Amino acid sequence: MPGRFAPTPSGRMHIGNIYAMLGAWLSARSRNDAIYLRIEDIDKPRVIPGAADLMMDDLQWLGLDWDGAPIYQSTRHDLYENALHTLQNLTIDASGTVTTGNGTPLIYPCFCSRADIRAASAPQEGDRFMIYPGTCRRLAETHPKEVRARLAQGRRHSLRIAMPPSNSTITFEDRVFGHQEFDMARDIGDSIVRRADGLFSYQLAVVVDDLAMGVDDIVRGRDLLRSNALQIWIRQALTDSADYSYAHLPLIDNATGQRLAKRERSLDMGILRAHGATPERIVGYCAWLLGIQGDPQTTHPQPMSTKEALAEFNWAKVKADTADRTLDPQAFNAY
Ligand code: GLU
Repeated sequence: MPGRFAPTPSGRMHIGNIYAMLGAWLSARSRNDAIYLRIEDIDKPRVIPGAADLMMDDLQWLGLDWDGAPIYQSTRHDLYENALHTLQNLTIDASGTVTTGNGTPLIYPCFCSRADIRAASAPQEGDRFMIYPGTCRRLAETHPKEVRARLAQGRRHSLRIAMPPSNSTITFEDRVFGHQEFDMARDIGDSIVRRADGLFSYQLAVVVDDLAMGVDDIVRGRDLLRSNALQIWIRQALTDSADYSYAHLPLIDNATGQRLAKRERSLDMGILRAHGATPERIVGYCAWLLGIQGDPQTTHPQPMSTKEALAEFNWAKVKADTADRTLDPQAFNAY
């Protein structure tokens, strides 16, 4: 079961990224499996020049090695385009079954702006989702001529993948968070696969890449639990295969309870390395956050090599804390 690192090169990595990478690396290496590196530079406006090279340097310095050459999403346009064509040839029937037969197209154009969607949808908490209210899906069903006319006029549009009707669920077992069940229409909604600016969405690219790279061990932050259901839906439309293993990790917060962001500069790898932090201190701290050194609520972190972390690792130690883990820059510096 090969795994992957999938960093977005939008800045220097911080402790929260390393923690997720260590989880992915331990999962793969504890089974003597391969782990690949995919640089998720598909969202060009977010990419910082030079960040991918610094990420690779940081991973190597920490002892988190990977197999083969790194894969850059920015070079894989044709692959995503082909997958989109496959999806565009599919239809979805009233029961939510995806086929090549008659039915409504699985992929449809959406002319809504973000403001339109915000105005028409109930606000959602937290993560990457704004549930789409289905405006253009209804337009495609009731006014197909109007849709054709807009497309002929070259109107700006994204492409969305339709979800099955309400009460259709996707379930999966997460190694950390256990049984997961999502009502696709209610919890996820029709989702963008190609943006209005022509870029393929993260959700499509990740599915296509995981399939193409033969990855089937997914380890990443809990903020992607819901995305995982969407990614399964896209994958099932593209292929019958694939029994994946999933582990979503509790997020790392800072001491004030906010998600640790890249702008939390004091714990980024550049600053840590400049201040003399050793790989063992960083790996040890992340292993402690993962629970590999014992319960992070009751133990103190100890420096550890990647080899030592590997010897101690098993998934049963990684707990689905209801509260995300807190990281206090002062506590890291004091240890
Ligand atoms: N590139 C994504 C991120 O940095 C992770 C994607 C994934 O693991 O699927 O948040």
